[in-house]
Amino acid sequence: MAECIFCKIAEKEIPSNVVYEDEQIVCFHDLEPQAPVHVLIIPKKHMASLDEVSEEDQALLGHLMVKVRDIAESLGLENGYRLVNNCGEDGFQSVKHVHFHLLGKRKMTWPPG
Ligand code: 5GP
Repeated sequence: MAECIFCKIAEKEIPSNVVYEDEQIVCFHDLEPQAPVHVLIIPKKHMASLDEVSEEDQALLGHLMVKVRDIAESLGLENGYRLVNNCGEDGFQSVKHVHFHLLGKRKMTWPPG
């Protein structure tokens, strides 16, 4: 999608610090990290939010979920981590391309803000 910043990152039109990439997903460091490790995992295919995914996206999103463990392991998150998706206005989603925050290397608290 032409004006989507994460599509541009996936297409390498905007530079990012890539941690993992394959034909379906890309993982890169967040610009404003909220933890010692804070990366974003996105599908390369544009989908605005989890509210807008369809049945045909099942395999792609399943692939992304299965890769979380490998990415976490490569980042040394052996003690655990938090995986977050912000969806829509109340969910505090600012970039309208599905992404999962993977945060680690600090003790998380609950409930989130
Ligand atoms: P959201 O609030 O939509 O769940 O999270 C969007 C995240 O994207 C934020 O944590 C923000 O710091 C990050 N972000 C926004 N623009 C860029 C960018 O151009 N590059 C990178 N690496 N991260 C970005």
